Amino acid sequence: MRRPVGVCWDIDGTLLRGGRVGGDVLRDAFHAVTGHEPPHVPMGGMTDHLVAEAFRDGLPATHAAPLHDRGPAYTEEMIAAIGEQWRGRDAALAETLTVLPGVREAVDLLAAEPGVDQIVLTGNVRAGAELKLTVAGLHPGTFDLDDGVYGHLPGPRAALVHAAREALERRHRRPVGLVVVGDTPRDVEAAHAAGAIAVGVATGAASVDDLVAAGADHVSEDLSDPAALVAVVRAAGQDPGATRGDV
Ligand SMILES: [Mg+2]
Repeated sequence: MRRPVGVCWDIDGTLLRGGRVGGDVLRDAFHAVTGHEPPHVPMGGMTDHLVAEAFRDGLPATHAAPLHDRGPAYTEEMIAAIGEQWRGRDAALAETLTVLPGVREAVDLLAAEPGVDQIVLTGNVRAGAELKLTVAGLHPGTFDLDDGVYGHLPGPRAALVHAAREALERRHRRPVGLVVVGDTPRDVEAAHAAGAIAVGVATGAASVDDLVAAGADHVSEDLSDPAALVAVVRAAGQDPGATRGDV
């Protein structure tokens, strides 16, 4: 018997490339909240919440300690500041943003598949996700952003996949197949930790070899053959064994 399938789309490096604007937003937010220049942090596949923690923890101990003393208030302020910093970045984003090959076709093909829900599952806070998708011409009309899962949530990226599963299973009142499409080993690890199929696309920072080494179930250079992704999604709807791991 077929079951519903949720397709969880990462944004950066998977649907689109936004250039350095997203990094600037995070760095400017950190400076606004703390008064410090942020340390270098490799951000690929990290949630904004995790980046906020990594910025704090990468400071010299004398600067990090007062931020630790603020407890959750520090990350809450950072998440709010990141949302604020996205305001007015439209023009800068439009200069650098590109939609990745095959994305529009893949999203359109999956939209026509019965029993398939497509959502965004991203490390961005919602304001960043919304602006990027809007500038890319992928919003409105492609995803219902109220259904998306965003990087303001604490915890590892797997927590986002768990949240997506819970929301979809609540909606369908039954188990769903889950397919995570992402560009980093962190997407792959998060998918598997939450019992989802991991599709890796090498259009971001990671290579095909990196994604294979991370254990992705399906890997491609890009999405220029969207029918291959449709086949993975159909299989996830047909085979209960396609959900893996402890859920
Ligand atoms: Mg990504």
